[in-house]
Amino acid sequence: MAEDQGRWVLTRDIGFINSRYTDLVYWVRADDRKLQAEEVIQAFKLDLARQSLLSRCAKCNGSFLPDPVGPADVESLQVPEGVLLRQKEFWVCAKCRSVYWKGSQYEAAISRLTQMTTRLSLNSC
Ligand SMILES: [Zn+2]
Repeated sequence: MAEDQGRWVLTRDIGFINSRYTDLVYWVRADDRKLQAEEVIQAFKLDLARQSLLSRCAKCNGSFLPDPVGPADVESLQVPEGVLLRQKEFWVCAKCRSVYWKGSQYEAAISRLTQMTTRLSLNSC
């Protein structure tokens, strides 16, 4: 399936490397999750720009609708009442209709991204 879609398979399973799909398999060498992320970013020269990250649905990898919507637009999409009261903007996955907002998980992801960007730029000097 990955081969048909031109996608890579990331794996720590060395046995999988020896399978017939070797052209599209990348063997992740690091054990630590943070180091694995950094290894893959460097190996594939991925863009760490903030706008390119957090631009895909975590549940289905679908794209978000182009513009954020307000609380009234997502009331029927299983968003907690407190979140509807606190947040002004929501992003909706065009494929599965999952809803995202800039809550604590978003802030934590941005913080991790900033730290990773700093580490990678320091390592490349
Ligand atoms: Zn989705």
